[in-house]
Amino acid sequence: MAAISHQQKAVKLFECLGDKCPDTCCGVGWQMRVDDNTIARYQRQWPELLNAIEKVDETHHVMCKSAETGACTKLENGLCSIHIKYGAEALGDACYFYPRSARRLGEKTILTGAISCPEMLRLLLVENAFETGSDTVERLPQSVQDYCPAELSSDQAWQTHQSFCDFVTHSELSGEWLILNILAATQGLATINVPQWDQAAPFYLRMAAGRIPETQPVASDSLNLLLSLVALLKMSDGLPAPQLRQLIARISSALQLEIDWEAPALRHSQHTAVAITAVQEAWDDHAQLIAAPIFRRWLHAQLASSLFPFSGFGHTEEQRVVVFGVRLATLKLALASRLVGRGTPLTVEEILEDAQTLARFMDHLADPTMSLNIYQDFGWTRIARLRGLLGV
Ligand code: SF4
Repeated sequence: MAAISHQQKAVKLFECLGDKCPDTCCGVGWQMRVDDNTIARYQRQWPELLNAIEKVDETHHVMCKSAETGACTKLENGLCSIHIKYGAEALGDACYFYPRSARRLGEKTILTGAISCPEMLRLLLVENAFETGSDTVERLPQSVQDYCPAELSSDQAWQTHQSFCDFVTHSELSGEWLILNILAATQGLATINVPQWDQAAPFYLRMAAGRIPETQPVASDSLNLLLSLVALLKMSDGLPAPQLRQLIARISSALQLEIDWEAPALRHSQHTAVAITAVQEAWDDHAQLIAAPIFRRWLHAQLASSLFPFSGFGHTEEQRVVVFGVRLATLKLALASRLVGRGTPLTVEEILEDAQTLARFMDHLADPTMSLNIYQDFGWTRIARLRGLLGV
């Protein structure tokens, strides 16, 4: 048994949906890494499972994928056949732990959930199961990365991280405004020494609103968001992502344009300019009302799963917040595109579906450099432009 200092309630409550899952993780074409301990166990106990593993390089093995479907070759009738025939203990760390993720801050071990799994997404965004508590678990991954900066104790790092989570939990601000406040506070933290972060984070968060500049919206931002999503999908070639392609097709239809996947580029129609306004106007007060609590929890999930500000998708703390901002703006665009020309309001299920589809793709991109280059080209790494993109 291993001790966990902070385990999310969602992780404790989580039960895999199995063959009822609408978007099974074994079928999405991920490179599921296989750790050395698992390979050694297969060699000792279950040599017949070695043919499910392929070597990528000297230090890197993954589960084999079907060339036709991209799914794990051990997926049978929507279920993992290794899990069924040999039990969960026969799974490699990556398969055993998904959608849970273990990280360290010094001596603290923290277990959080990933919203790319539909059931974990529901537990976090609907059940609000963010509370953490200490616990013991049967197994931990062979290697658990430590994100605690050398300048902070484990307690100080946790306190710093918790200040951001508490800010989101106790605020009535919208997700969009929370991101801008967190970006402004993060810029403040960057001006002081790391050993002061635990004391300074609450102060900078309280003062953040006054540091947010006037908005700089750009009319073509909806098009740029769509293009950035298309470009990233194109660069991650090989991922079968039917739900994501449907979401992109819905946005392009709402914006009345066609996608040239080869270039990639957007081919505007004579109606595109009017359609941009229609999509923006479709995001009405009612949609905002339904989405606001879910967006706040969505942001909380991003902060918690990345142990913000200590890890995440981005090389710096600021870049990680920019990524949250662009991802939330993309989710809003996807949801607004559902509302164009229809008389019925947005539903919670629709928000969850699009949030999960986008997380499944964006949370599993390998390297932030390409995303950040695109975001920088569109100006979204500047806070005034990010505010314009978020539409507040
Ligand atoms: S995505 Fe989540 S619910 Fe679906 S099969 Fe994977 S772990 Fe289970």
